[in-house]
Amino acid sequence: MIYDGKTIRDYIRKRDYGECAYCGDYDARFQVDHIKPLYEQKYKTTKKVDWSYWDERNLQTLCRKCHKEKTKEDVGRLAELKRNKKKVKIIEKKPLLCH
Ligand SMILES: [Zn+2]
Repeated sequence: MIYDGKTIRDYIRKRDYGECAYCGDYDARFQVDHIKPLYEQKYKTTKKVDWSYWDERNLQTLCRKCHKEKTKEDVGRLAELKRNKKKVKIIEKKPLLCH
C-alpha cells in the first residue's frame, strides 16, 4: 500500500465508517490511528523494522476525543523510550573491563 495520508483516510473511512474503535462514536473528522504506535520502530535499523506497523491491520478509526487520550499515553511512553535510549548509549560508552 502506498503510504499516503489521504488514500489511507478514504480507505479507513470505507472500512470503519468513521466509527471510533474505542467508544463506537461516529466522528466525521475521525483520526486514523496506528494501533501499535510507529514510534516503537523509531530507533530501529531498516533491517530490523517491523513493517506490519504500516499494515492496514495496524490502523484503526478513533474519534478525536479518544485519539487525544491515546496520544497523551503515547507521548508519555515515547519520553520513556527516549530516556532508555540515552541509558543504553551511556552503557555502550563504558570501557569493557573484562577481556
Ligand atoms: Zn471514541
